[in-house]
Amino acid sequence: MERPPVIHKTAADFRLPPHWTDYQGGRSAFSWDAARGGLRGLPGGGLNIGFEAVDRHAETALRDQTALHFVARNSPAVDLSYGELARQTNRFANVLQGLGVGKGDRLFVLAGRIPELYLAVLGALKNGTVVTPLFSAFGPEPIAKRIQLGAGQVLVTTDSLYRRKVKLWRQQMPTLRHVLLVAEDGGISNEPDTLDWATLMAAAPDTFTTVPTQPDDPALLHFTSGTTGTPKGALHVHGAVVTHYATGRYALDLHPQDRYWCTADPGWVTGTSYGIIAPLLQGVNSLIDREEFDAQRWYTLLEQEGITVWYTAPTAIRMLMKAGVALADQHRWPALRFVASVGEPLNPEAVWWGKEVLGLPIHDNWWQTETGGIMIANTPAFDIKPGSMGRPLPGIEACIVEHLEAEDEPPRVRVIDRPDVEGELALKAGWPSMFRGYLNNEARYRKCFAGDLYLTGDLARVDADGYYWFVGRADDVIKSAGHLIGPFEVESVLMEHPAVAEAGVIGKPDPMVGEVVKAFVSLKDGYAPGEALRLDIMAHARKRLGAAVAPKEIAFLPTLPRTRSGKIMRRLLKARELGLPEGDTSTLEGGA
Ligand code: AMP
Repeated sequence: MERPPVIHKTAADFRLPPHWTDYQGGRSAFSWDAARGGLRGLPGGGLNIGFEAVDRHAETALRDQTALHFVARNSPAVDLSYGELARQTNRFANVLQGLGVGKGDRLFVLAGRIPELYLAVLGALKNGTVVTPLFSAFGPEPIAKRIQLGAGQVLVTTDSLYRRKVKLWRQQMPTLRHVLLVAEDGGISNEPDTLDWATLMAAAPDTFTTVPTQPDDPALLHFTSGTTGTPKGALHVHGAVVTHYATGRYALDLHPQDRYWCTADPGWVTGTSYGIIAPLLQGVNSLIDREEFDAQRWYTLLEQEGITVWYTAPTAIRMLMKAGVALADQHRWPALRFVASVGEPLNPEAVWWGKEVLGLPIHDNWWQTETGGIMIANTPAFDIKPGSMGRPLPGIEACIVEHLEAEDEPPRVRVIDRPDVEGELALKAGWPSMFRGYLNNEARYRKCFAGDLYLTGDLARVDADGYYWFVGRADDVIKSAGHLIGPFEVESVLMEHPAVAEAGVIGKPDPMVGEVVKAFVSLKDGYAPGEALRLDIMAHARKRLGAAVAPKEIAFLPTLPRTRSGKIMRRLLKARELGLPEGDTSTLEGGA
């Protein structure tokens, strides 16, 4: 069916008056200073994410309102009110103090979406301790590597994850001083060289004065993948809370009475910024589901929990589309009033599916680990052009640039001021949640800036109405089910298999998850390609990397294409896989 290119908004689309209705007017009237006025702040000009998200409300009428509502298939729901969340995070901050863990120290959390994860993150923030939530589906290798790189001093995890993914590798993490275990059966954990979460929490006082952090003090360390083997640790500061607050209003249109569901795991930046911080800042009641995607379950949760604002991912929407309209027809969502998605391109078809099946179009938005918060979005303030990721939010200046010289350092760029021309998406630096560095990699950080422009590494174009359209990544990083995967990290683990001589990893387009990880390997002398060996290499990769990162496909090649300088030409592997033109092969070893 031929679809119109624009979905027009009418007053009937809004069940609540939106925070933002006039695109230009809202942008002109906006300032970051004024946005900060919506927060409380600490005495002496301080700012602390945990205090603003929790304690500020615990002193108001929101005290007894549910802040976090946890559900799981086989255990009863758990509700934490803003008041209870304040007391429990105070306890955890006191636990940290008791262990001698303070401001600027680093804490990692490795857990599924259980209440303790949220208490650890928010309590640590109140204590000024820098937090990294890790994805619990990572294998031992990515976990150890990130804790090593981040020089983590404290790890909070569950007893079973510890036994499966940390215990045997603990000597690789020499900076870890304390490991706190949550017993999954609700009892007491008694692994050697660890501390029991429940015992420490029960003994800790439930009052605490937030450590006086300043806006530039580090708060969160999020790892993201690059093309090299080392994940990049993007450091964020407490001042980021101003972006979290403003975007919760303008991009997600959160109101205090909302029942909100962000389906992202806090192991990824969306699950922290918009699964923990932004909704609490707006005083909403958030649903947190411990289970993985299940179409029937998700439709039921949306319906029974009376979700009003839903923030999810294109892969999930495509999986719901695949599950068929008959399943959707068994449900009604009269409470739902706003749906947004992030992380990968959202097909126009999916935007329309939202309108036809959920009764609401899906609002795509764009940001990345480095930006710390939503930058470009479809919002209630304007019409949607399906396929576009929207327009810059208040306080955000975006543009498309071209590089003057490909390998210039520092980069030099020119803004393309004509519409509809592809180039790199850039943002004027200076919004509060902008990352402040890559851990131990100042040179890589500097390469992200050309003057006062932050270069995103994404290719895009902007149309004459100021709508941005995603084109692709400028590098080899793979986006699978919304998660960035660094090809080199996967290649390195493959190379450790005794049969593998060299490995090249690409993202192979996939209609459901965007891209799947596909590996090409060549074998050492004495090994022959075959199904048993393929499965063995696959099992090795899954064991080391975890199912979320390991390749889904492995193909054997006699040799891999390399540049004259010895780098595997992933671009060429990809072009060959897709039957596309091979492009410039002048640097190919043995090539033209
Ligand atoms: P991450 O740092 O893991 O959040 O991944 C950020 C990257 O995801 C961006 O640089 C984009 O490549 C991609 N991305 C995020 N949102 C969108 C979107 N709405 N459309 C297309 N790609 C997106």
